[in-house]
Amino acid sequence: MTHGACDGDRQTIEEMPPFSQSLSQTPAAEPAPEPGQTMLASVLHDFNDLRLEQVPVPQPTEAGSVLVRIRSCGFCATDFKAIKGIRRNVTFPFIPGHEPAGVVAAVGPGVRHFSVGDEVICQPSGYCGYCQHCRVGNTHYCEHAFTTGGDGPEDVWPGAFAQYMLTRENCLFRKPAALSFDAAALAEPLSGAWKGMIQYSQMKLADDVVILGVGSIGLLCLMVARAAGAGRLIAVDPSAHAREQAVRHGATHTVDPNAGDVREQIYAILPEGPDLVLEAAGPIEAVRTMVGLLRRGTRWNIFGITTHEKFELDGGLAHFLEARMDASFGTTPLAMQQAIRLMERGLVETEQIITHRYPLTAIHDAIATMEQASRNKVVIQP
Ligand SMILES: [Zn+2]
Ligand SMILES: [Zn+2]
Repeated sequence: MTHGACDGDRQTIEEMPPFSQSLSQTPAAEPAPEPGQTMLASVLHDFNDLRLEQVPVPQPTEAGSVLVRIRSCGFCATDFKAIKGIRRNVTFPFIPGHEPAGVVAAVGPGVRHFSVGDEVICQPSGYCGYCQHCRVGNTHYCEHAFTTGGDGPEDVWPGAFAQYMLTRENCLFRKPAALSFDAAALAEPLSGAWKGMIQYSQMKLADDVVILGVGSIGLLCLMVARAAGAGRLIAVDPSAHAREQAVRHGATHTVDPNAGDVREQIYAILPEGPDLVLEAAGPIEAVRTMVGLLRRGTRWNIFGITTHEKFELDGGLAHFLEARMDASFGTTPLAMQQAIRLMERGLVETEQIITHRYPLTAIHDAIATMEQASRNKVVIQP
């Protein structure tokens, strides 16, 4: 069974895994942490120096703060880049991990909407809710932004590769009971995929969509496009494993950029060109490839690249193409809520892309797995 994608178009037809609801891993009730109690955390002291340590459990003393017992946290490329020093904007010591789901362990003064024992999903990008950007829904532009374990804002709080994490009440979402903590932990990357593909690039029913790069975030974009009823859905990736995964999750065609000119291969499948192209790869070369794929009216999204590298655009050509460029980063409460709905309704089953699960004590094995080409999503269960 597929949502929207036409089986007859597949290069490889495989039986899709059933769209069943995952069962919740109900955790045993734990006593609330006492003041002075310690917890296991993975603390980055320098690049390539991540240590498992006992550190004090943070206390929710500030108004609106909430302490969450972390049950599962996705391992994102952003975490990996911080640990390895591939991104340098890290202040030590730092606890990474920004895709968490867990259980409320304690609440600070004034918290009214969540209580101890609630199963929650945490939005890592914290926001004030009152600045001009927050007021119009762009909480990811917030003037008082902070992140729990992520990248972007200057105000970085400890993340979720730890047994407990402190956040604010307005960053919490209720975890649907039918969703496992592992599936729920992928709400944040899924929300980014929804925001880029649907909210910003306005993918429509039967659009022919090309996704450049189908690692875990590209796969989530692909699953969103399939759920939204893409016509042709083409995954471009040099990795045979990634292309195989893409077909499993709804790609109607795949293209290997090493097998020949990408534009020629895509236009052989779509003689009229793509309606929408989204780059979820990262390297500047993928952005250049994307520019080469445009026809008149194509919507294109700079989604994956975060490095400061340049590409060229022909002004007159851009004018006459009317090819609309979008870009998308981060998440918002709207995108988080939509991602949770997509998962709850079974339209996107995030658990299907999880290939590895590690307890926090095996974080170094998880880091080694992150370097493997054959992995998909890795989750840490603190
Ligand atoms: Zn991430
Ligand atoms: Zn704000």
